[in-house]
Formats: sequence, C-alpha cells, structure tokens
Amino acid sequence: MEYKASENRYDKMQYRRCGKSGIKLPLLSLGLWHNFGDNDDFENARNILRTAFDNGITHFDLANNYGPPYGTAEKNFGKIFQQDFKKYRDELIISTKAGWDMWPGPYGNFGSRKYLIASLDQSLQRMGMDYVDIFYHHRPDPDTPLEETMGALDQIVRQGKALYVGVSQYNAEDTAKAAKILKELGTPFLIHQPRYNMMDRWVEDGLLDTLESVGLGSIVFSPLEQGILTSKYLHGIPEGSRAATEGSYLDKSQITDDLVEKIQKLNEIADSRGQSLAQMAVAWLLKDHRVTSVLVGVSKVSQLQDNIEAIKNIEFSKEEIEKIDSILGY
Ligand code: NDP
Repeated sequence: MEYKASENRYDKMQYRRCGKSGIKLPLLSLGLWHNFGDNDDFENARNILRTAFDNGITHFDLANNYGPPYGTAEKNFGKIFQQDFKKYRDELIISTKAGWDMWPGPYGNFGSRKYLIASLDQSLQRMGMDYVDIFYHHRPDPDTPLEETMGALDQIVRQGKALYVGVSQYNAEDTAKAAKILKELGTPFLIHQPRYNMMDRWVEDGLLDTLESVGLGSIVFSPLEQGILTSKYLHGIPEGSRAATEGSYLDKSQITDDLVEKIQKLNEIADSRGQSLAQMAVAWLLKDHRVTSVLVGVSKVSQLQDNIEAIKNIEFSKEEIEKIDSILGY
C-alpha cells in the first residue's frame, strides 16, 4: 500500500541544532547497521523506517558496508526510499560513510581519496540517490595523510555528492586537526559520530569539549550498548537477540552475571523514573546538550516506539546521576 507519512509527524519530536550549523537533528535518529541487510525481513525494515519518519525521526544513518552482505543495507534502503520516501526527500537527512573494508585490494579500505570518492559513487548508485546530506570518513586512517582524506571530503562536497561532511571514531586531537584543514578548504564540517553510552564514556575525556570549541555537533552510536542497556538481557539471552546471533558484534559471553546484576540495578532506577531502561539510557545521553542526536538501532517497531518515549524526561537529579555512576564504577 502506498505510504503516506503521518500528518502529525512533527508534533512530538524535538530537534537540536548541530554544532554551529544551520542543520537541526531529531533527538533520536535511526541507524541501519543491523536489521536492513539481505538476511533481514524487508517488510520489518520498511515498517521501522515508516514508524521512524511518522514520529519525526528525519535522519537515517547508513554506511557502505552495512548489511550483511556489505552494501545491502544501502540497497534495501534505496528500494524503500524510492517507494516510500522519495517524495519526502527534502524532509530527510540521509548519511553514509566509508572507511572500513569494503572491496578487495588496496583501494577498498581506510582513507585514500581514491577509496572515498569511488565508495560514495557506489553508495549513491545502490540507494538511487543524487546526493547524501552527510558523508563521513568512518574511522581514522593512521597511514593516509589527513590532508588527503579531508581533501577527498572537500571534493565530494564540491561535486555536489554530499551537502556536509563528518568524521567517526576520530579522537579529539585528530578531530581538531581535521576541523582546521576543512576550515581552510571552506568545507562544511558538520558532525562527529562517536561511540557513547553510560558504560562507554571515552568522549567525556576531551572529545565533547573539542567538538564544542570547533562548533561541531555529535551523533552518538551504540547508545544502548547494542541492547545491553535495555530490559532484554535481564532474564537470560532471548532467541533472535543480537547476543544470540552468531557472528554479531555482541557475543553471549559478554552477558555475564556481574553485568546482569548491574543492569538490574540500573533497571530499578529507570523504574523509579517511570522509564524503561532503554529510555533512561537514551535520556542519560540527551542530558548533555553537546549530544545533538542519539543514534539508535532497532530490530522491531516496538523497540523504536519504546525508545522515542525517552524524550519525555531527559532531566536527572544529582542522586540519580550518582547512583548510576556508582553502579557502573564511575
Ligand atoms: P544500540 O546500542 O541502540 O543497539 C541496538 C540494538 O539494541 C537493537 O538492534 C536491539 O537489539 C536492541 N534494542 C534497541 N532498542 C531496544 C529496546 N527498546 N528494547 C530492547 N532492545 C532494544 O545501537 P547500535 O549498536 O545498533 O548502533 C546504532 C547505530 O549507530 C547503527 O545502526 C549505526 O547507524 C551506528 N553505528 C555507527 C558506528 C560507527 O563506527 N560510526 C558503529 C556502530 C554503529 P536486538 O537486535 O537484540 O533486538
């Protein structure tokens, strides 16, 4: 059936300005790392995207190698985009990335001009789009001069294939260097995509300060620690979950008794706030205004609906913060 977006889609979501740019992002964005590949259920993927947009989530995040197999999240997103979202193109921020291994040989990985430009051309073709809103270098490359990688991002914008650029997983020092190079080139450097959640706080050690000082926004990935910061693993490892899936980046062995005990204690705090644990984990990130958007992944529409409700309460008392810190050893 033809998709018509909800007329109320902008009623509830809130938007934050991304650094010192003209772009605002929704407090929650949707990531397509998992659940959109060829091994996943296409109709489920489509319903997740529709639910997201119906709730004001205007930003979908992809990468060349999302799937599996690599490239298939972009291909499947492209199909859904053509059928459902093309007419809403100007209401959407679509991002993709390159930086991890994508094709064999020396030109399908890391940060050369050759790789980045070819990869974005392939991504656009897979998605059937003329441009993306944000193109990221997906991870730092220790061997390619930053000038070359940033020069490629600049060229991509000048070619009209991306409106803004970003970096992911860069440390504070390299982010500042990248910002300097891109400023000199006149390239619209919009955003950093780091890993950040209650259990992984490396960004607090300098990166968030750097982002603020150079005027960049941030969109944080794995906010739920891949599902650990939800009620999912409170009573074992459910079938079909990421930890139960062979070859996923979350191994069963990570769900230890010690971890479950911590999750139970966190869950009690969430309960006392009238939130699910997933909602509290999202809210905990949004309490800091340097976090522009929280990039969630979901395998079900119901998970997305749960997570969206987080924005109803993103304030924390001093006691709540201290309790969370002490449970997690901070
Ligand atoms: P999350 O930490 O949000 O984990 C997502 C998983 O958590 C879901 O697949 C689901 O697991 C579970 N989950 C989500 N909501 C709920 C809920 N309400 N209740 C119970 N379980 C829930 O994020 P991801 O690790 O998936 O990362 C999000 C996005 O960030 C990616 O899609 C990608 O766009 C981006 N990313 C970027 C990276 C980078 O290098 N720049 C690296 C990694 C991610 P289950 O499948 O078990 O149901």
